[in-house]
Amino acid sequence: MTILELLQRSAELTDSSTGVSAADVTDSPLLDTELLLCHALDVSRTYLKTWPDREPTPEQVHHFSALFQRRLSGEPIAYILGYQGFWSLDLKVSEHTLIPRPETELLVEAALDLQLPKQSSVLDLGTGTGAIALALARERSDWKITALDFQPQAVALAEENRVAHKLDNVQILQGNWFADLPADKFDLILSNPPYIESNDPHLSQGDVRFEPSSALVSGVKGFDDLIVVIDESVGFLKSNGWLIVEHGHDQGYGVRQLFTEAGFADIETRPDYNQTDRITLGRLL
Ligand code: GLN
Repeated sequence: MTILELLQRSAELTDSSTGVSAADVTDSPLLDTELLLCHALDVSRTYLKTWPDREPTPEQVHHFSALFQRRLSGEPIAYILGYQGFWSLDLKVSEHTLIPRPETELLVEAALDLQLPKQSSVLDLGTGTGAIALALARERSDWKITALDFQPQAVALAEENRVAHKLDNVQILQGNWFADLPADKFDLILSNPPYIESNDPHLSQGDVRFEPSSALVSGVKGFDDLIVVIDESVGFLKSNGWLIVEHGHDQGYGVRQLFTEAGFADIETRPDYNQTDRITLGRLL
C-alpha cells in the first residue's frame, strides 16, 4: 500500500470494537494521521507530500497501525508522538505533565512585552514540561529563571527538556508552590496552575482524560491554587514586580479581585485566540 492510500484509508477507518473513527476523536483527523505516519516512517510531512507513491515496509505499516489505534482510543497525539511544539521549542511530554497548550504562549508574550530589568530574576510555578520557563530562557539569555514543579517526574522531564535545548539560565526545582523556595525576590512570577472545577464535565472528554488531574483540577470552583499563587507571590516579588497567571474563561473577574486584594496595580485580563479571558497580569505596588 502506498503512503497516499494509507493516509486516505486511515482517515476513513473506524475502530472495529468501538465504532469510533479518527474524526470522532480529533478535529484534525488528516493532520493527526500524517503526524503518526511521519513518526512510524521517521520522515517529515514534506516527505509524505513529495513521495505519495512510495510503499512503506510491512513493519512500518504495522507500527503506524498500532499508533493509529492508540489515537482512535482517544490518547492525545502529543503523548503518542512523545513531544509537543511550544513557542520555538519541541518539548518532550509524558503522562506526568499537562501537554503544553497554544494559549499558554500568551503568558510568554505578555512577559516579553513587560519593561523589566535586563538581568531579571523570574519564577515559573508549576512548570510541567518546562514550557514557559524554557521559552523565556530562549528569548532572554540574561534572565535568571527558576522553574518549579511539585511532581518529581515533571521536574525530571523539564530538566531533560532544558538540557536538550541547552538553556543554561534555567534552574528546575521540586517544591510545593512557595513552600520550599529559598527566600528570594523575583522581578516576575508566572504560573499556569491547575484551574478547572472538580466537577467540570469536560474532564471526562477528549485529550484531558489522559492528563494528570493534579495539573488540571483545583477544588470545587477551580480557584484553590490560583488563590495560593496570587496571595503568596506578594512575599516573593520585588516592588514593581509582575505576576502573570493563566486561568479559566470564566475566572477573569475573580482573578482580578484576588489581584486587587493582594495589592496589585495595573491589573489586566487578556483573551486567548477564542476571544475568551485567559490570562491576567498585575504589578505589585
Ligand atoms: N487550559 C487547560 C484546559 O482547559 C487547563 C489547563 C490548566 O488547568 N492549567 O484543558
